[in-house]
Formats: sequence, structure tokens, C-alpha cells
Amino acid sequence: MRFQVLAAALMFAVVSPAVASEDIPDQYPQSVLYAKPVEVIPYVWSAIGATAPPGYDNSGHNNNLSFIVTGEGVIVINGGACTQLAKALHEEIKQVTDEPVKLVINENSQGHAMLGNGYWAEQQVPILAHVEAAAEFEDRSPQILAQMETYNKDKAAGTVLQGPSETFEDEKVIEMGRFRIEVKNFGPAHSPGDILVWLPEQSLVISGDMAFHERLLPIFDDTDTAGWLESWESFEALQATYVIPGHGHPTNMDQVRRYTKDYLVYLRGQIATLLEEGKGLEDAFYVDQSPYAHLDTFEQLAKRNAGRVFEQMEFE
Ligand SMILES: [Zn+2]
Repeated sequence: MRFQVLAAALMFAVVSPAVASEDIPDQYPQSVLYAKPVEVIPYVWSAIGATAPPGYDNSGHNNNLSFIVTGEGVIVINGGACTQLAKALHEEIKQVTDEPVKLVINENSQGHAMLGNGYWAEQQVPILAHVEAAAEFEDRSPQILAQMETYNKDKAAGTVLQGPSETFEDEKVIEMGRFRIEVKNFGPAHSPGDILVWLPEQSLVISGDMAFHERLLPIFDDTDTAGWLESWESFEALQATYVIPGHGHPTNMDQVRRYTKDYLVYLRGQIATLLEEGKGLEDAFYVDQSPYAHLDTFEQLAKRNAGRVFEQMEFE
């Protein structure tokens, strides 16, 4: 028994650098980044954040900060949760290429997508986001900043509010160097103005929060789960070979379908049954979500998700 535990611990020690989890401490202590960027396919890099809530230990690097080295400049996906993270990512980019950063794309209006924008604006880099994400950030940015300052304490130093400098509605196509980059909005997903970055020639999608797999997806007050399932069909139609999700390791469509679309369908099914039985919100919190209990952030989110789906479905 003892040997097995030890063997398991050793195996774990060997594989742990590749695994982001709530239980795993900072993988890159020399940097405020939670993990060092890895090259996922040629010229497309991602610093995979912790699949945990944001906190001082991960500096708010709990989402993926990606960049594309096009040959004629670098495109960064996500500003990061604070100026220090944006700067740390820039240091990593400089180790990989001499090409200047030409554009930053924010995948939505969340703090970890936009709060590092101030750093990039200071470097004169334009910042692109969806029009709804820009409006949402405009409305809520003081709270978003205050939340980040609460957990990041001294690491929040230097962060200033900066929204995107450019917005788009359905699609923005960028031809740069060796890449054709299609930035798309497919309609409602997890929050207003969720976008994804599609590289058709490489069949890789940087999906933002359209797609989850290692951590349980969050359902917010303004998350339209029925709309998310509709948007999913357009996402699926890309037939992407590779997926860099908003959170967690690069993966493929089968895996994100299982933990995003299938989870939404499952949870909505559980709640529909409850509604048919005439049960109330108190019962909704306790619907069986055990098939998803192994996902990171399950403890923090499962009950809340069920409650929110109940409140939405009552009026559908
Ligand atoms: Zn996110």
C-alpha cells in the first residue's frame, strides 16, 4: 500500500509539469506567470494558467495567455489579469522572437482578459475586442479592478484600466505573415462578447471561454445557456483539429464537447426534470452533477451553476 502511494507520488512528480490543477503550486516561480509558455503548434504559443480561481499564488494567471508569431509581428491573445502578467508575457515573447507585438486580442470582458491592457497600450499596441465585451468592461471595470486588487495585493501595482482600442461585431480577418487569423463571435457563450481566434490553415482554434474541459465551466447571471448551445453549433462547424481553450491544456473537439456542450445539455436536462416535478430552487442546488465532480473548480461552481440554470429555465 505504502509502496503504491509512493509510486503514485513519483509518477505524479514526473508528470506534474504538464498538469494545471488547483492542487499544484506555481509551475514557474521565477515569473509572475503560473507557467512558462509552450509552443502548441509551430509559431503558436500559450502560457497555460492554473485551472483554479484567481488568487495571489497564481497572480490571476488562471486563464491561457497565447501568442502567434506570424513572421511579420506577434499577435497576443489576452491582456492578462494585471500589468505585471502582461509584462511577464512580453518578456517571454522577446525570448522567442525579435518581432514586435502588433496586436492584442481580448477574448471577453473578464479581468484576466482585459486588466493587463494598460501595459500594452503603453507599448502603443492596438487592442481588439468584441463590441459587447468593450461595453461590459466600460460598465464594470472599476469592480473588476477592485476584485483583482483584493487578491493580487502588491502584484496589482501598476495596473490601470484600459479598454480595447478597436471593436468588431461578427468577424475580423487579419492576414499577417504566414497566418490568416479569423477573429469570430458566434453569439452568446459564457459571457458578453466571447470571441474565438480561428486559424483555418492550421485547423487550430483559440476558443476563449466558448469551450471548457479541465475545470467546470462557470454559469454567470448573464450566461445564456440555451444561446451557448446554439453558438456551439457554429463553433463545431469549424471542425478544428486543435483547441486551445480559455482555461486548461490544449486539446481537441471531442474533449471540449464532452465537458462544455454535454455538460450544458446534462445540467439543463436535470433541471428540466425538476421543473416538471414542480420542485423549487432549493432542490436545484442538489441535482446530481457527479459525472463532472472530478473537474477543477467543481466545488466552487456546481451548486451555483445549477441554481442559475434553474432561474433561467423557469422562464424559458
Ligand atoms: Zn475566462
